[in-house]
Amino acid sequence: MTGYEKIFDVIVIGAGPAGLMAAITASREGASVLVLEKKEEAGRKLLLTGHGRCNITNLLIPVNFRETFHENARFLTSAFSLFSPEDTRTFFSEIGVPTHEEEDGRVFPDAQKARVVRDALVKELATCGAELLTETPVTSVRKKNSENVWEVETTKGAFGASALILATGGATFPDTGSEGDGYKFAKMMKHTVTPLAPALAPILLSTCTENTADRGEDCGAEFSPAGITLPDVSVMLLVEGKKAAEARGELLFTHQGVSGPSAMKLTRKLPEDPELYKTGAVTLRLDFLPDMRREQAEELLLAAMQANPNRHMKRLLCETFHLMEKISTMVLPEDLVANAVTKEVRKKILSNLKESVMTVEKRTPMAVAYVTCGGVNVKEIAPKTMMSKVVPGLFFCGEVMDVDGASGGYNLQCAWSTGFAAGKAAAAFSREEAR
Ligand SMILES: Cc1cc2nc3c(=O)[nH]c(=O)nc-3n(C[C@H](O)[C@H](O)[C@H](O)COP(=O)(O)OP(=O)(O)OC[C@H]3O[C@@H](n4cnc5c(N)ncnc54)[C@H](O)[C@@H]3O)c2cc1C
Repeated sequence: MTGYEKIFDVIVIGAGPAGLMAAITASREGASVLVLEKKEEAGRKLLLTGHGRCNITNLLIPVNFRETFHENARFLTSAFSLFSPEDTRTFFSEIGVPTHEEEDGRVFPDAQKARVVRDALVKELATCGAELLTETPVTSVRKKNSENVWEVETTKGAFGASALILATGGATFPDTGSEGDGYKFAKMMKHTVTPLAPALAPILLSTCTENTADRGEDCGAEFSPAGITLPDVSVMLLVEGKKAAEARGELLFTHQGVSGPSAMKLTRKLPEDPELYKTGAVTLRLDFLPDMRREQAEELLLAAMQANPNRHMKRLLCETFHLMEKISTMVLPEDLVANAVTKEVRKKILSNLKESVMTVEKRTPMAVAYVTCGGVNVKEIAPKTMMSKVVPGLFFCGEVMDVDGASGGYNLQCAWSTGFAAGKAAAAFSREEAR
């Protein structure tokens, strides 16, 4: 063989969680493995996870599978049964990272540090005998059919391998190295890439409170709910008046808009077309009383008003619905006593409680999203092996594929499971090639 210093069994592009898991697995299967990483260290994004604590997996995955992984959940079932959240805990415990479970099935390392997770993976990679080259961006890939070898061009020269694993991640937080290069490489190999969108990101708002949306008021001018966290709100995303998605859970108001699990679940459904935002056609509808029908809420409110005619309405709202004071100010800006509240104002309060409308300013930029929605089309990837159905010997794992999950450790589990499947199958492929 000419042109390369050495031909590896497997080359992995990208030393993020998926690539590291794939490389360790392939090495443990006996393959010679080279990992090529663009940045000066492995796992830059991994270091940011879970606010630096690394929410490594989630034990509720089997229960929540379909709703968590959206449209392409089915594609992931084989990889998750091959390498489950429990397998993740065992794997990390064996490499010196014991973990514990916190609320909602979330699992964290006992050390509470993402760095410990990253360092253990890099150490295990070396222990298995795999080579890691950092500061080595891959610039192009091609398969030399005459020799059945993958040729991988980097800024430091060309490398060859029998099997190639693309683990380049998505296109968010580009400073971490995830700049969407993998999509370019996949396209070079005649794969299709589904449209990309930000997922798990705050939603930017231009107005907030009903029925102020149509008056075009900016709530920030007089009253800002920024800083409030509500434990249970139902949030609906509407595009041109039609429901695009709905989520329920904690909601956090920020200076720019809304964040927290319920809002972040909806980001992936924000439309791309900027014109829709200019015309105010993209809105959020918030229900602050998701367990109560409007009629029930009205009955409760009327009874409370009749029993306390001289009580300040904001106080009454807080007591009746267990609302925070800032939320009662949001649903009723005026300072009225109960017996001064007209039927019209009462109806308005109820509308604001059950369907506050907020206008979305624009689609959240990709750079600030935690995860990329869209990617290499999973219809072109075999779910058990992660091997390309277009080019034999090419494998994918992690976020470069069109898979994304909810927040709570699901996306890292996706990286571990698909990385494991790809590493195992790539090693087997290279063994077959060597025969
Ligand atoms: C702030 C933040 C917090 C998060 N917290 C959590 C959490 O707690 N739990 C959870 O489950 N998920 C979390 N996520 C999501 C999770 O980090 C990702 O889903 C996961 O990192 C994807 O892994 P990956 O290996 O597929 O890709 P990445 O982690 O993006 O790794 C891809 C690697 O490929 C390298 N690369 C790219 N192009 C090239 C090239 N041309 N040549 C060589 N190398 C290249 C990159 O430099 C990078 O190191 C978080 C994300 C963010 C941004």
